[in-house]
Amino acid sequence: MRLDNTDNAWLGYSKNDRKELTELTDSYIDFLSKCKTERECTKEIVAMARKAGYKDLVDVVTSGKHLKHGDKVYAVGMGKTVALFNLGNEPFENGMNILGAHIDSPRLDLKQNPLYEDGGMAYLNTHYYGGIKKYQYVAIPLALHGVIAKTDGTLVEVSIGEEEDEPVFTITDILIHLASEQMEKKANKAVEGESLDVLVGSIPIKSKEKDPVKQNILKLLKEKYTIEENDFMSAEIEVVPAGKARSLGLDESMVLSYGQDDRVCAYTSLVAFLATEDVERTGVCLLVDKEEIGSVGATGMRSRFFENALAEVMNAAGAYSELAMRRALQNSKMLSSDVSASYDPLYASVFDKQNSAYFGHGVVFNKYTGSRGKSGSNDANAEFMAEIRGILDARNVRYQTCELGKVDAGGGGTIAYIMALYGMDVIDCGVAVLSMHAPYEVTSKADIYEATKAYRAFLLA
Ligand code: MN
Ligand code: MN
Repeated sequence: MRLDNTDNAWLGYSKNDRKELTELTDSYIDFLSKCKTERECTKEIVAMARKAGYKDLVDVVTSGKHLKHGDKVYAVGMGKTVALFNLGNEPFENGMNILGAHIDSPRLDLKQNPLYEDGGMAYLNTHYYGGIKKYQYVAIPLALHGVIAKTDGTLVEVSIGEEEDEPVFTITDILIHLASEQMEKKANKAVEGESLDVLVGSIPIKSKEKDPVKQNILKLLKEKYTIEENDFMSAEIEVVPAGKARSLGLDESMVLSYGQDDRVCAYTSLVAFLATEDVERTGVCLLVDKEEIGSVGATGMRSRFFENALAEVMNAAGAYSELAMRRALQNSKMLSSDVSASYDPLYASVFDKQNSAYFGHGVVFNKYTGSRGKSGSNDANAEFMAEIRGILDARNVRYQTCELGKVDAGGGGTIAYIMALYGMDVIDCGVAVLSMHAPYEVTSKADIYEATKAYRAFLLA
């Protein structure tokens, strides 16, 4: 890759490329504005899949329908993770072409007993999820998204703070005039996790009860959502930046939004996947939860959810045996997509310029990730990287390689190492991001376009 601008994807775009790029990124911006939690993403992904002709695997299994080449199915895990299958012409045992990305993003979660009153104001107590700079979450408009599961089996969906006529929330910061002690603190202590409490009210009810402001909030919650204080015990409510995703820059070449890690890779993988009709090797698109906290739990990549869904699909196709499934997994190839760090000239000291990703230079490949000597990394095979280069070169897709920052500057991991446990070829790739994990992250529209092209090329290979 050349670091002068001759490699910049924007320079090579025709009028039609620009039109396609704009359509794609406009719909991506809508997706980001609509889908701020893993559950909301899952709902939208399923709706998009159904529109593209995908059928629910549960219905296929219960009806005893036989699956064959050309059939398309999806499986959902606990409303938070999705696996899509596009059955190919070749037998499963030859392996699948798998796209993977995650749909959970860093945020604040409400605690199970969140509501309290102090100083005549009502607050919701939170516990942050994933790696955040806590000081970035104060003094910005916030929205509440999630579900409240009630004991009668109903699930109340909550979304407050996105519509023009809805209120928003915030976490206050100390005024600069009184911040001399705070400003002396290290950045990781300037705002403590336990003080990330969301301001939700200040009107007391007329009563002699304790905590009249909190009582008033409870009254409103009951009126609007028919929920009691105890219902928070069985709720999953996420506190996220309020408002829509936007185009960024005078040239409108970038996207500014919450949650682009990793919805930028999830959305582009999905769009490429749904647009791919007839394939030789079975295509799979995995959009998983819990990556930001180590891919744990029933909906994280480390769970058996995908393997179980694959077993059902192979069984419905009359192709299942333990050995056949092992072969299918081992012979598979995967693009494990996640965001990577884009070179940021304002923080140049943490990057190796020669091994950084740049906006507009295409989809990014990380042969390895990890930290402290590649620890925790999936180190992709050179032969596989060569194969991918060939596929992308043949279809004129722009790509670059990078490391997540300088050696020993830090590091990170993705879901790649988990899928590599099956013995399949996996490589990390994705879209470069500025301000990763911040309330508003930045991506390049050209890279989003190139990523989608790369995924499509891979599925057809
Ligand atoms: Mn990620
Ligand atoms: Mn992340």
